[in-house]
Order: sequence, then C-alpha cells, then structure tokens
Amino acid sequence: MNLKTEEIQKAAAYFTAGIERLADGPLRIMEVCGTHTVAIFRAGIRQVLPDNVELVSGPGCPVCVTPNEYLDTAVAYSRRPDTVIATFGDMMKVPGTSSTLLAEKAGGADVRMVYSPLEAVQIAQDNPGKRVIFLAVGFETTAPTAAAAVLAAVAAGVKNFFLLTAHKLVPPALTALLCLPETKVDGFLLPGHVCAITGIKPFEFLAAEFGVPSVIAGFEALDILQGVYMLAKQIHTGQAQLKNQYRRIVPADGNPVARRVMEQVFTVSHASWRGFGKIPDSGLNLNERFRHFDALHALPVEVTGSQESAGCRCGEVLRGKIKPPECPHFGRSCTPENPVGSCMVSVEGSCAAWFKYGAGR
Ligand code: SF4
Repeated sequence: MNLKTEEIQKAAAYFTAGIERLADGPLRIMEVCGTHTVAIFRAGIRQVLPDNVELVSGPGCPVCVTPNEYLDTAVAYSRRPDTVIATFGDMMKVPGTSSTLLAEKAGGADVRMVYSPLEAVQIAQDNPGKRVIFLAVGFETTAPTAAAAVLAAVAAGVKNFFLLTAHKLVPPALTALLCLPETKVDGFLLPGHVCAITGIKPFEFLAAEFGVPSVIAGFEALDILQGVYMLAKQIHTGQAQLKNQYRRIVPADGNPVARRVMEQVFTVSHASWRGFGKIPDSGLNLNERFRHFDALHALPVEVTGSQESAGCRCGEVLRGKIKPPECPHFGRSCTPENPVGSCMVSVEGSCAAWFKYGAGR
C-alpha cells in the first residue's frame, strides 16, 4: 500500500473504531482463505477486534481440503518403480491413511519437492526413462500454472509428465457450506488472490442468492481490517453486497489470460473435499484433449480402504463448525512435528496457525 507507519496506524485506528461502532451484535465473519488465516494471526487482528466480532476459518487451505484418498493414491504411485512424485513441500507431510510421502521418500521412493509445476516438466525431460507425476493441488490461483505446465510439456514433446489432479474451485464450496444447516456466517472475507484470477462475478451469488455480505480483501493487516469494517458496515445497515477492497490487485474481470489457459486444458468436474464429501462442479480435471496427461487415466492405480485419521476434526474446522483448540488432539497428540491431520501440516492450515500463534479467539 506504500503508506507511512503513521498513516497506517491512523487508518487502523479508524477501521477498528468503526468496527466497534458498527458491530452492535455478535458478528461471525469467515475468512475463506488460508492465506488470510495466517495473515490474521500474524498481524494480531483478533486482538484488536471487539469481543463480539468473531473470525472463523473456512475451506480455503488447498492442502487441508484434499482428502486422504488422493494422498493414498500419491503414496501408491510413489511405490512404483521408475516413478517420480513432484510436489509442493506441504503435501509431503500430510498423513494419508497409513503413510506420508515423506515416509515413502525416507524408504527410498523418488519424491521431489518443487516450487512450480514447470520444474516437474523439466524433471521429466531430464529423466526420459521415468514417469513424473506432479501433484496438482490448489485453487483458481495455482490451476493456471498447472495448465501452463501441460502446454509446456506439449510444446516440448514431453510424454512422461503427468498430473494427479485435485484442483478445486472456491465458489461451489461456499455454496455447499451455505447449504449446510449448521453454517452460521454473517459475512465472508473473500480471497483476493483467487479473485485476481476469477474476477468478481463468480462470487456475486453470495449476496444475491444467499444474502450474505462479502468483501474481497487483500492480505496486509490494513486490508483485512478494512475488509472487516466494510462487512460490519453492510451488516449494520442490513445490506448484502459483494464489495472489492482489493481493487489495486483485483480487476472486476480478473485475469482472462490465466482463465483461458485453464479453460484450454481443464474441464469442470465434481470433486471430493475433506469435510464436505463430493461437491458438484467444484474441481478441475484434464479435458479430453489432454487426458493422456492425467495420471489416473494413463497409469491406472487401485486404492481402497482410504480413511480419515481417527479422531481428527479437520472436516469440522474446515466447515467453520469448531475452532482447532476444540479438537482433543490439538497440541497434545497433534502438533506440526507430529500432525494427525492435514490442517496441522500446511502453513495455511487453521490448526497449524492456531498452534503457532496461539492466543487467538
Ligand atoms: Fe485434525 Fe490435528 Fe486439527 Fe485435530 S488438531 S482437527 S487432529 S489436524
């Protein structure tokens, strides 16, 4: 934002006082995105909000919402000869039903951490005798880069590169959430980076169909405070609209180029979410033209008996039903060093954030 410290303090005081004045009853605001969850903790936002304004995390951590069946499939692939699993670091420690990719790597599997799917294409080019499977996990923010990697593989004639897709779309998950009788949300703080790709239109239904005020917000402390202020203002005046606090990054029509790349390679499909089960039209799979890059299609594998970790309440955390300290494992048998569930692994996971930063509400 390029503001001086004094200006930031003044603006923060203005928004905080405004929230206090406008929030004349209990307000439950859900930050949908894991990046917001971490930013809220890091900046101590909870501590400056009045007691009646509650921030609760939603299903916005991509690693957390990826169910165990997917992890078990990745583990099964990692046990195959001449197979390389290329993945973002977070996925390595997530417990599947009976193993993790990190444990498989320690046992000799070829599991490599990458920072971009293009690195996985390069690994495939460098190892023509091996099959390289990239774990394509993430929301609308990361799906374009996976699509671009597929196009790069086509351009380079790479035939030993595959995706194990678990890309997910945020708006259908919010529909599923709002359709649950248990859900109580007075307003949504929406993920700025997702909207930078999608534009604002896919989120208009929150106010239009469900009457829930929503604000697209950035990730600095002031962005978040202003987002909460904009929500409190709507709620106070009985309005329900979609507002864009993050205009400096989120144009109304998002990023059409990134969407075109995504649409070229993927098709919308049903997808399984931890804590929700199957949500219609909430995932992205490789379309017919690129199906030969789909690991499940090209390299069939059978995985049975997948189960969630016993006693892990990650699903309820992701639905905003409970906060992490309400899970009996939290901080006892489940810590970032020995995670029981995915929400304690990912840096964007709600349990990991509560564990690291502690004193939230
Ligand atoms: Fe699951 Fe651990 Fe979070 Fe409990 S604290 S919900 S076991 S990840």
